[in-house]
Amino acid sequence: MKSLYSPPDYMLVDELLTDEQKIIRGAIRDWVDRRVKPDIDDYAQQGKFPVHLVKEMGELGAFGPFIPPEYGGSGLDQTSYGLIMTELERGDSGIRSCASVQTSLVMYPIYAFGSEEQRRKYLPKLASGELIGCFGLTEPNHGSDPGSMETHFSDEGGYFLLNGAKMWITNSPIADLAVVWAKDEHGAIRGLIVENGTEGFSAPETHKKWSLRASVTGELVFDNVKVPKENLLPKISSLKGPLKCLNSARYGIAWGAIGAAMDCYDTALRYAQERKQFGRPIASFQLQQRKLAEMLTEITKAQLLAWRLGSLRSQDRATAAQISMAKRNNVEMALNVAREARQILGAMGITGDFPIMRHMMNLESVITYEGTHDIHLLITGNDITGIDAFH
Ligand SMILES: Cc1cc2nc3c(=O)[nH]c(=O)nc-3n(C[C@H](O)[C@H](O)[C@H](O)COP(=O)(O)OP(=O)(O)OC[C@H]3O[C@@H](n4cnc5c(N)ncnc54)[C@H](O)[C@@H]3O)c2cc1C
Repeated sequence: MKSLYSPPDYMLVDELLTDEQKIIRGAIRDWVDRRVKPDIDDYAQQGKFPVHLVKEMGELGAFGPFIPPEYGGSGLDQTSYGLIMTELERGDSGIRSCASVQTSLVMYPIYAFGSEEQRRKYLPKLASGELIGCFGLTEPNHGSDPGSMETHFSDEGGYFLLNGAKMWITNSPIADLAVVWAKDEHGAIRGLIVENGTEGFSAPETHKKWSLRASVTGELVFDNVKVPKENLLPKISSLKGPLKCLNSARYGIAWGAIGAAMDCYDTALRYAQERKQFGRPIASFQLQQRKLAEMLTEITKAQLLAWRLGSLRSQDRATAAQISMAKRNNVEMALNVAREARQILGAMGITGDFPIMRHMMNLESVITYEGTHDIHLLITGNDITGIDAFH
């Protein structure tokens, strides 16, 4: 069935994109229409991740688009990465989460902090989707404050002995490998690559989620796990390691959330024009026009913010605080757009016949993970006052 999707571009942001960026976006948009949209609601209703899409995303170049081609990536600029995230999240935040984790939280640290052997061993297979990775930072007792993590390892001569647990880990039950952040004997935070199948390592699934239902989430449990010494990421030793990964992922989310918002707006606009009450389309009532006008205004502001951030990041000039501001603003914007769009559809808005309620529930995770809404505000506050209010 032909897609009715008509992406909003009120300020002609498309004119700021290169032809290559538009071609890349078009390819992902087309794939989302064909492969995600038709049955993503069924997967979400069943609480299942459509794992068969992983290899297809690899073939599309959705994993590690900014990683150099010699390691399996496409060597693209950051705006292209952002546009890919927007299109994937228009499909579902769970699909975008899979690509975010694989790209920014698994491939990026191996590329940026890994040895040449680690890069060559893992990156091409992660790029193609042959291997699925996950990122273990959050722990049962340490979410917003990962620097207090308890997971630790000791040097046993021939190997590292890893103990501890991680929680809320996207893709962990299906992952072939985990990039795990843990403290060494001196308390320094290091990154370890832990392969599935290693004795003492398990990744039980987290059930009963009402959000990101088409994404698989789980724990990582390390009970005297012997990690080969060559699996230590050699080039980083501090909390800066995971935070740099999160910067990359948060950047992608700032773009991704726009996709969810655009899908909700587009759906609500079409519905409002078709649905009649009191003998007129509901789009003719001022209250509904106000909702639509405000939604489009906020989407447009978010598009411009993301575009500028993309330009800065492609030049390696975007600060962590700028990324926090964009992630925070754009996710809240998307959640508000989803809530307003849901109302425009009335009762129909709560069903799986439309994508709005699914996006809305997904965005409740997106506003919490990769740094909560509060924490990003405090990062901005810290940046403008010089005073850290969260420790
Ligand atoms: C679906 C899903 C997938 C996820 N995937 C991953 C993953 O792949 N890898 C990973 O490592 N983690 C992942 N996470 C974890 C996520 O990053 C954490 O949930 C997040 O960092 C918040 O931690 P927390 O849930 O422990 O909340 P807490 O840190 O306990 O915070 C609870 C509340 O207190 C507030 N708060 C905390 N500290 C302060 C402060 N100083 N000042 C003011 N308010 C404060 C927070 O804003 C929040 O509202 C995922 C989470 C979800 C829901």
